[in-house]
This record gives sequence, C-alpha cells and structure tokens, in this order.
Amino acid sequence: MQQNSGFNPEDIAFDKSHIWHPYTSLTNPLPTYPVVSANGVRLKLDNGKELIDGMSSWWTAIHGYNIPALNKVAIDQLENMAHVMFGGITHKPAIDLCKKLIEITPKGLEKVFLADSGSIAVEVAMKMALQFQHAKGQPERKHFMTIRNGYHGDTTGAMSISDPEGGMHHLFSDFLPKQCFADQPKKRFDEDYTQEEFVQLQQFFRLNAIKCAAFILEPIVQGAGGMWFYSPDYLKKVRQLCDQYDLLLITDEIATGFGRTGKLFACEYANIKPDIMCIGKALTGGYITLAATLTTQHVAETVCNGEAGVFMHGPTFMGNPLACAIANKSLELLLDSDWQARVQSIEVQLKKELTPIVHTPFVKNIRVLGAIGVVEMKEPVDVAKAQKFFVENGVWIRPFGNLIYIMPAYVIQEKDLSQLVRAIVSYIDSMK
Ligand code: PMP
Repeated sequence: MQQNSGFNPEDIAFDKSHIWHPYTSLTNPLPTYPVVSANGVRLKLDNGKELIDGMSSWWTAIHGYNIPALNKVAIDQLENMAHVMFGGITHKPAIDLCKKLIEITPKGLEKVFLADSGSIAVEVAMKMALQFQHAKGQPERKHFMTIRNGYHGDTTGAMSISDPEGGMHHLFSDFLPKQCFADQPKKRFDEDYTQEEFVQLQQFFRLNAIKCAAFILEPIVQGAGGMWFYSPDYLKKVRQLCDQYDLLLITDEIATGFGRTGKLFACEYANIKPDIMCIGKALTGGYITLAATLTTQHVAETVCNGEAGVFMHGPTFMGNPLACAIANKSLELLLDSDWQARVQSIEVQLKKELTPIVHTPFVKNIRVLGAIGVVEMKEPVDVAKAQKFFVENGVWIRPFGNLIYIMPAYVIQEKDLSQLVRAIVSYIDSMK
C-alpha cells in the first residue's frame, strides 16, 4: 500500500537488499529509517514521527535543515546555471567562494583547489605534496607521516593515512601505499606537554622525515577514528618539527572546520599555519557535496614549476556552480551569525549535562569540545539496538564503535539539546 510519504514496503525491502549504505552489509543489513523531510533540527520519518537530530548529517548541517536563504540561492543558481565544466571556464560563484576561503583560513593559504568531496580534497592534498617534493628534486619523499586513530576518507590515498586497524589495512595491504604512523597524541585538549614528552615524536621525525612528503593530521579533534581531542601543544610541536625537517604540514579540517570546535578552524587553537589545508563537510551547510584544498604561494609555485608544469588533477564536477553558490550563502549565514556564542553555549550545556554520567557503569570517558559531545563506552555499542532506542525516544543519534556522540546544528535550542542528552543517559541506564 502506498503511503503519503511515498515509501511502500517494497521500497524498504528493495533498499535492504540492493542499496549499500555507508559501511553496511547487504547480507545482514542494519535497519534503515525512512526519512521524508528535514526541517530545523528535526528529521521526519515516514510514519510522521519527528526526531531531534544530534548528528548534523555527519558534521555538515550546521544551520539545521531546510533553510530558506539556502533554498533560495540553490533555486536561483539552478535557474541560472546548475553546472558548467571548470576546464577553461570560470564563474562568479567559484571566484566569490575562493576569495572568501582565502580570507577566512589561516594567513598564507591563498591558492584553492575545489574538490568534490572530503576524500578527494585529501587525495588532492597528498598529490600536491608529492608533486611539490618531485619538483624539488626529492622524488624519494613519497610517503606520508600521520598519527594513529586518524580518519581521512575512503579513497586509496586517504585510506592509506587513516588508522591501520580502524581502516582494516590488512585487507588492502598489497594495494595501499605504506605510510608512517606515529602514536596517537596522549594528552587531552586541556593538558600541556613538556618538551621531554616529545622525544618519541622527535625520534619519529628523525627516522621517517627523509622519505616523506608531508605530515598529515586532523588538528585537535580526531573524528571518525575515535573522537579524541588532543593538546594544541602537540600540533605546535608537529609544525615546528615539519619546519625543522623541511616537511609540508597538511591539516585535514574537513570535520573540524567552520566553527565546530569553537574556533573557525581548529588549527587556530595552536596558532599554527599549515602548508596545505583540506576543508569540506559544513562548507555548504549540509546541502550538497563540496570540498576544497588550499595551499600557499610557495607550494603552488613549486608544483607548477615542476616537470608536469601543472597540478595533475581535475574532476568532472570541479567547482560546481550550484555547490559554490550554496557554500557562499552558507558562509555568509555562518559569519553573520553569533556562531561563537552559540557553539560556546552548546559546549557549556553539554559539559553540564553529560559530565554527571562519567561515573555510570559502562561509561569510560566523557569529552566535550565546542559543539561536540562524546560518551566513550567501555564496550562497543550495539548500533541497531541503540538506534532503535534513540528513535523511540525521539532523537537521531548514530553511535559507532565504543562511542555515542553528538554534534548538533549550532542553532539547536536548549531543550532540544537536553532531550538529546537525556536520550543518551536513558540508553545507558537501560543497559543496567
Ligand atoms: N577527513 C575527515 C577528517 C573526515 O571526517 C572525513 C569524513 N568523515 C573525510 C576526510 C572524508 O570526507 P568525505 O566523506 O566527504 O569523502
């Protein structure tokens, strides 16, 4: 029987047996919940039930859903020009966006490559670093240094620098390039390092820098690899060692960018400037896929003076005008808003409401930074069971591994945020 929402039982059965969702099985699929619309911080299911969204569609929907100003710009741009190739052609939405990105990212980043997803922005960053070293007559610098528990995407290069265990590297071991992994930074966001504590990291540089093109890491917040918030001191030290060993520093701000951590970009906590920076996710306010890789005059000039004479990358949908126009409007909405105050009040509330559960059995650790709240459990969370519980309790939260975490839209109201936290607390209580 056809329902109002447009879903019928065969649709759901078809989805189950034919459509791969992220990291899922087609022989033993987890339930999927049919969503018919999204508005503000609410997702509406086909049965009419509304869920408060705690995920911002994986860090993207920072303004919430169905934003009139973003809808309007999307429609206007569609009616004007949905897409046009970027080879030999340029357009105003891309120019305006790149100007803005140069203005708001750390000083010195002034060349922009518009990519179509976060993973591609990372591939582009890696290729830039490789071409840079090649042009400098150092083709042997073809590996990358990074830290364990990182996540940079699902394409080949990005997988190779993501956590070897989380990324199941052994499955792809003959295929993935071999990279150099330092231990995960141990000190938390609010802890300081002493110089002596960097001996291991210095040793890591001494051993590996000579064969590496760049050090790549997620600044301050390691996202999908474990939601770990580490000390800005570590990032400062990595910058210093990269300079010492003549290594490029690539910061992957795809998850952290655009205010999520309380700074516009997380590297601001360490007051460092990367040589290459990747951004994506919240760039279009969750409307459409778009990412970018920014770099310095020095890197760009070196790359373009190398053997190829050009930067060797150019996806079909590069600089898509629709995505650029939406990104421009989304950035305007963000920068004209009191986002810092909003993110800070989310942080204060999350700290207040999540901290009491730290002593609950099953809970290993609680951490909050900006508009990110994380409950680390002692054991892996049963995702299907937890998700069912959350949906029954009117919220959308999707755990992974040992983690139950939320990163709501910056516009979320206090009572909705409380409901998200209450649902987490109730779920943990229900485990007793
Ligand atoms: N880098 C980081 C830090 C990410 O969190 C992600 C996505 N979770 C990516 C890269 C890959 O982005 P995308 O999924 O858009 O390819």
